[in-house]
Amino acid sequence: METPNIFRDFGISDEVASYSQRILAGLTDRFAEIDRVAEINQAKVLLAMRKNRVDAACLAGTTGYGHDDKGRDTLERVYADVFHTETALVRPHVTCGTHALAIALSANLLPGDELLSPVGKPYDTLEEVIGIRPAPCSLMENGITYRQVDLLPDGGFDYEGIRAAINDRTKLVTIQRSKGYQMRPTLSVKRIGELIAFLKGVKPGLTVMVDNCYGEFTETLEPSDVGADMTVGSLIKNPGGGLAPIGGYIAGTAKCVERCHYRLTAPGIGQDVGASVSVLRDLYQGFFLAPTVTAAAMKGAVFAAKLYESLGFRVVPDSVESRHDIIQSVELGSPEAMCAFAEGIQAAAPVDAYVTPIPSPLPGYADDVIMAAGAFVQGASIELSADGPIRPPYAIYFQGGLTFPHAKLGIMMSLQKLTERGLVKLDR
Ligand SMILES: *Cc1c(COP(=O)(O)O)cnc(C)c1O
Repeated sequence: METPNIFRDFGISDEVASYSQRILAGLTDRFAEIDRVAEINQAKVLLAMRKNRVDAACLAGTTGYGHDDKGRDTLERVYADVFHTETALVRPHVTCGTHALAIALSANLLPGDELLSPVGKPYDTLEEVIGIRPAPCSLMENGITYRQVDLLPDGGFDYEGIRAAINDRTKLVTIQRSKGYQMRPTLSVKRIGELIAFLKGVKPGLTVMVDNCYGEFTETLEPSDVGADMTVGSLIKNPGGGLAPIGGYIAGTAKCVERCHYRLTAPGIGQDVGASVSVLRDLYQGFFLAPTVTAAAMKGAVFAAKLYESLGFRVVPDSVESRHDIIQSVELGSPEAMCAFAEGIQAAAPVDAYVTPIPSPLPGYADDVIMAAGAFVQGASIELSADGPIRPPYAIYFQGGLTFPHAKLGIMMSLQKLTERGLVKLDR
């Protein structure tokens, strides 16, 4: 077999290579199921593009005020059709996922309203958006209060706690699909649907927002298919397909999303301005590629789970359970192991492969964060990347890979670095 020589050129030992190949051999059925989901999602995207008559003029872009930007408006209808919502906001002016979430929250909460998270602590960057960690312009500074109900120890919803937390001021509920930097399970769309039905049963007028970051196209349904009023995410993750250089989206009801347009630009102006300049081709092509790119990332995550699980590490999710996002966490147990893992991922990157990641502070995060990301789009975590806050249990969060062969090489390199430092022993 000639492939091992390629791995040798990469600095991967024969032991690591053959161990990895044995792990992969057991994943055929898993990969076939991932391909099945990708095929359905690819068809969804293509149908939406065909229905909305995407053409060359849509890819061109505008400048200045961007009045009558056909490509921008059509892209928003394409997203709305894929998410099965009345409307959508999808723009390069939304700088990232955090920004999209901040817009959705601040546009739909007024002073005196209460925000509820029934699924525990939200993603790190949202702590300052909400004001859990005080910050200028946070929701709390604007007179909005926040309440949180944690998941039960087994990961289930605390229905009685949630019922008790809902009061006459509760206006908006935020549900985070992905685990974020936590070891809790990611929520399936089905479970999100059950929670939304319960919430609206307790208080029918509630607005439900789902933080869909990293979840898009991992299943054949999205939170908007099960009752979410707003489904929100980042184009620097799954739906950008690795090509979107910037952006975020909010898909949902006209009532909620129109307010988001006013919050993003200005009251009275809303969605009518916002030149798309020259990014539309990448937003369209990225969305077209997103289902298969997400599938590649899912395969990488499953491979990493099975590999590190077999070596005795705690992995979430494990190698057999169903998946609802592209994140794979591996509890490595020490800062040294986190660094070695990140160095392996970095060494397999197409860009910046020569640099060594080191833990450092990151805006929006409370702890130092280590980040391996040699990406074409800076910081893009749909591209092969690994990161995590340096705090117990020293879990690295691994995600992305625009192609599976790249994800595979990166994971093998991570194991190579761990074995070189004596942090892992291969006894087979
Ligand atoms: C990444 C992420 C965000 C924030 O998105 P950015 O584009 O990094 O700002 C919010 N929530 C979750 C669950 C995420 O994974």
